[in-house]
Amino acid sequence: MARYREGVCKLCRREGLKLFLKGERCLTEKCTFNDRKNPPGPPAKRKAKLVGYAAQLREKQKVKRIYGVLERPFRNYFTKALKMKGITGENLLILLERRLDNTLYRMGFATSRAQARNFISHGHVQVNDRRVDIASFQVSIDDKISFNQKMNHGELVKENLKMAMSVGVIADWVEVNDDQRIGIVKRLPARENVDIPIKEQVIVELYSK
Ligand code: SF4
Repeated sequence: MARYREGVCKLCRREGLKLFLKGERCLTEKCTFNDRKNPPGPPAKRKAKLVGYAAQLREKQKVKRIYGVLERPFRNYFTKALKMKGITGENLLILLERRLDNTLYRMGFATSRAQARNFISHGHVQVNDRRVDIASFQVSIDDKISFNQKMNHGELVKENLKMAMSVGVIADWVEVNDDQRIGIVKRLPARENVDIPIKEQVIVELYSK
């Protein structure tokens, strides 16, 4: 599976927003965004206000980076969202939220979506007691997410969960049993559960040209 392999902190600087791509580090003073907010590359002579296509492109890139999705799958999500009932932009975000890697992150089992993808691709994650090694797997209501008992990183998952509980970042559309490292999808995520400033309508406008 293709994926972005370069330093991720510069992506936050590019988007002018903390994207929380590095797990625990993002919550500490080590986060470089606190001290360096200028976009990567040579300094601009003056800060131009983004309008039109440039604004649409930035918004799309931001969402792709947050969820760790490359261009082609992202466009596939858009095509799927277009065919669903309801508002296309909201459908797009809900499809992204329902990804298995995002669900693990929202349950607090992983400190970032990238770490969640690692757990999944190494075959540690089960959905309804069956191994699933596809990060883009779409979760449904009542799905049970658990970990392979032989998993080497069991303690790491417990620590992640403890931290997520102490910071209070576990989403309210999931339920977590911290002793057994089991999570249940109580209901499907809704637009208001996406806690990041995203103008999804702008992405719809970009793809509708
Ligand atoms: Fe972004 Fe996290 Fe890096 Fe901070 S530590 S700049 S939030 S990826």
